[in-house]
Amino acid sequence: MHHLYADMMNLYGDRGNVISIKKRAEWRGIPVDVVDVKLGDSIRPTGRDIFLFGGGQDREQTLLAEDLSGEKGRDLRSLSEDGAVILGVCGGYQLMGHHYETADGEKIPGVGIFDLHTEPRKPDEPRLIGNVLVSVELDGSKREIVGFENHGGRTRLGGSRPLGRVVAGFGNNGDDGTEGAHELNTFGTYLHGSLLPKNPWLTDHLLQTALRRADDAFTLEPLDDATEKRAFASVAERVRRN
Ligand code: GLN
Repeated sequence: MHHLYADMMNLYGDRGNVISIKKRAEWRGIPVDVVDVKLGDSIRPTGRDIFLFGGGQDREQTLLAEDLSGEKGRDLRSLSEDGAVILGVCGGYQLMGHHYETADGEKIPGVGIFDLHTEPRKPDEPRLIGNVLVSVELDGSKREIVGFENHGGRTRLGGSRPLGRVVAGFGNNGDDGTEGAHELNTFGTYLHGSLLPKNPWLTDHLLQTALRRADDAFTLEPLDDATEKRAFASVAERVRRN
């Protein structure tokens, strides 16, 4: 597993996504190496990879833009096109589109994995903050994810499809009802939370998809998720009521 810019992009516990994948793999006897990919480091895929790109402030996004615009960005784009598993959250998600314009009007180029761009918050507009409940359709089944969002940027989808529909909260921009983006096995979302500990089925989906790239019959053993399911139900219910 490759944790992109681990030391810079880790808002609202996004590192929990790394822990969740590692733990749910290890509980099934599958070892996971976590590689922190820092500024200047190259990506070295193994063929069964998961790439996590967490959220960050405009400042961190600006600082890593140059690093991402070179070989690393090109590698990520071709890995995505090849079906690698990539998850970007908030600031990381914004940089997987064509560009992100910061609140100060600086246009940061993105990797261009997704056909979308992110506009800055207008002075009279609020930041989009709060708990989110999203309806997601994946592999023909309807599921839900919960999380927490806090962003100024408004993401507008071009040709990319959304990850899901907002049931409660703001999502991509607060007005078109879309949340995140999804192409092949690359996912982008505004949901911190951390996202994966709160939504173990999504963690397993990423894990199984990554392992199937090396063995297409690979199936994860089920875990006892009674506690996780209770936690999810109670949060989802609270968010739905708000
Ligand atoms: N800096 C970005 C914004 O405010 C992303 C913030 C985040 O990752 N939570 O839109």
